[in-house]
Amino acid sequence: MSELQEDCPASQYKGKATMEKITSLAKRRGFVFQSSEIYGGQNGAWDYGPLGIELKNRIANAWWKEMTQLHDEIVGLDAAILMHPRTWEASGHVENFTDPLVDCKKCKSRFRADMIPEENLAAKKCPDCGGELTDTRKFNLMFKTHIGPAEDTASVIYLRPETAQGIYVNYRNIIQSNRMKIPFGIAQIGKAFRNEIVTKNFIFRTCEFEQMEMQYFVKPGTDEEWFSEWRRRRWAYYEKLGVKMDHLRWHQHGPNELAHYAKDAYDIEYLFPMGWRELEGVHNRTDYDLGRHTQFSGKDLQYIDQDNNNERYIPYIIETSAGLTRNLLMILCDAYDEEQVADKGNDDDWRTVLRFHPNLAPVTTAVLPLMKKDGLAELAQDIRAELKEDYATDYDQAGAIGRRYRRQDEAGTPFCVTVDYQSKEDGTVTLRFRDSMEQVRVPKAELAERIRSEIKAYKRIK
Ligand code: ATP
Repeated sequence: MSELQEDCPASQYKGKATMEKITSLAKRRGFVFQSSEIYGGQNGAWDYGPLGIELKNRIANAWWKEMTQLHDEIVGLDAAILMHPRTWEASGHVENFTDPLVDCKKCKSRFRADMIPEENLAAKKCPDCGGELTDTRKFNLMFKTHIGPAEDTASVIYLRPETAQGIYVNYRNIIQSNRMKIPFGIAQIGKAFRNEIVTKNFIFRTCEFEQMEMQYFVKPGTDEEWFSEWRRRRWAYYEKLGVKMDHLRWHQHGPNELAHYAKDAYDIEYLFPMGWRELEGVHNRTDYDLGRHTQFSGKDLQYIDQDNNNERYIPYIIETSAGLTRNLLMILCDAYDEEQVADKGNDDDWRTVLRFHPNLAPVTTAVLPLMKKDGLAELAQDIRAELKEDYATDYDQAGAIGRRYRRQDEAGTPFCVTVDYQSKEDGTVTLRFRDSMEQVRVPKAELAERIRSEIKAYKRIK
């Protein structure tokens, strides 16, 4: 059992993250809004507000840096969402990308059959109202649409349900254009679409989402070694991001869970407020994908090993597949903290703080004049203008300084710079740290450098 359960009321969790609190904070502070809210909302789709898009971009950049900049043999790609429909026949999605679906005849609720208790399925009894369930039927998750003006079968096209296939169909182009030698990888971040039967838990499972996938092409026989290596690297990545490591675990797919193409598969699971759930998958996809694309396209996708007597083979693929939007939810949950900072018996005793790694925080530094008057606001604006070149900044002059700190804590801003009367006299400012709430005085000329060294040395304290 997980430490926090889905059906427990939020009030029992003072000081802890619940999905309710995360959703409400995300809306209040402009991280994530319901899609088309003024029309009652669109299920399975969410919009990323000013802080949300900054956070999403930073998570994507951190992944991209890790996977491309830090690996000489991995290159990037941005393939189209719309692909030739044969792609999805070759990949097996037309035939196999289905979820088992059951409906309740009484309350009309719809369930994924593999997500309700087995006894309910066996007794055909609705887990919500006890009504009778329909037989299980297969439901294909791909969104189908038409290209061109005629809506006939010849014009059917799919919104991609994963980014991976865009990489496989470009494998030959990339080998030729970039003279890649095996082992090598191709990384891609982009949108994917799945007609999910059940979308709940905020942005955890949505119909439109983003993935960060890397496909690593290896010689058959070396695949198991590379599979272990990529598991090790992906685990180390989350450690580097400062994620709570006791909230991560591995889950190996059993024989019934393995996808049709996989030889071995492990998920990295995170302890979300609703329990342990998949965050990312590391898969050994064998030569299935390139083999099938060879067969369906009629093109020879063998690798020719020029360093080894022109040996030819279809590479095996090790895939690391993470949800970008699901990573964002994980980062929000992981950063969320409520801390008691006083004992006066009112709301001000507690602060909500998002303990983002400074490299991920949407705003790095907020500049706050103690007063609007006496030239402090102008001085603060000048300081902000100087910091802007290097950091994402915010400026806030409204309300008591304590309140303003709280607002920045809740947005996850790691550093606040306060400009006061002493600043006018000796050119120093107060630098306040989000996590410890400690404050130090720093000459304003040294501010940018000081923040840089603080980010480099950052260690999460809670
Ligand atoms: P599940 O079994 O939970 O439906 P999956 O095993 O099919 O998911 P993959 O196809 O392995 O998921 O997708 C790789 C990653 O993409 C997942 O680990 C997850 O982070 C993300 N992902 C998949 N489906 C969704 C979705 N509907 N909404 C948000 N992220 C998703």
